[in-house]
Amino acid sequence: MSKPLPIVKCGHPVLRTRAREVPAEELRTEEFRKLVRKMVDAMRAAPGVGLAAPQIGVDQRVIVLEDAERLMSKLSPAERAARGRVPVPLTCIVNPVLTLVRTEPVTFFEGCLSVPGFMALVERAVEVRVTGTNEKGEPIDWTVSGWPARILQHECDHLEGTLYVDRMLTRTFGANDEVLARWAAMDPADVRARLARPGAEGA
Ligand code: ZN
Repeated sequence: MSKPLPIVKCGHPVLRTRAREVPAEELRTEEFRKLVRKMVDAMRAAPGVGLAAPQIGVDQRVIVLEDAERLMSKLSPAERAARGRVPVPLTCIVNPVLTLVRTEPVTFFEGCLSVPGFMALVERAVEVRVTGTNEKGEPIDWTVSGWPARILQHECDHLEGTLYVDRMLTRTFGANDEVLARWAAMDPADVRARLARPGAEGA
């Protein structure tokens, strides 16, 4: 196996561009199969639970996601339940179209492989529907809530040139080690209150 491709970091314009639709005739080609393979390898090597093609420098509307038991082993059962974090088998979605099904916001810390070393609270819709095809061109129509819904919103944002830092509660932005040591286990509402601008109502 060749070395995984490096993840493109924020500051690169490919992360700030609307990615191109993948034409149907490109699916099932050897080149496209290789692209998906490279995305999966880069995601697993990071490790991450999702990756969009622009994150390996490819301007195409393709995302992959996979969440495994070992990646959530540091969360308590209560933290898992609050996040709706459940294993997700490896899934590739081409030309995903995301719609928000239930928009009531859920707020948790989120990070991005393209903004390494940091996390912030981000409000996301609790439930989404995604349509598109898999890498073979077979239709996908998936309605999901909880953590997979967060991953899908994050990855589909990448295809629009949007990063989580555009949506985060800016005062909760912090270095991973500080966030994990001080804030990650706390109720997100309390984190917002504690980090609010002094004298203001919320972060
Ligand atoms: Zn990201």
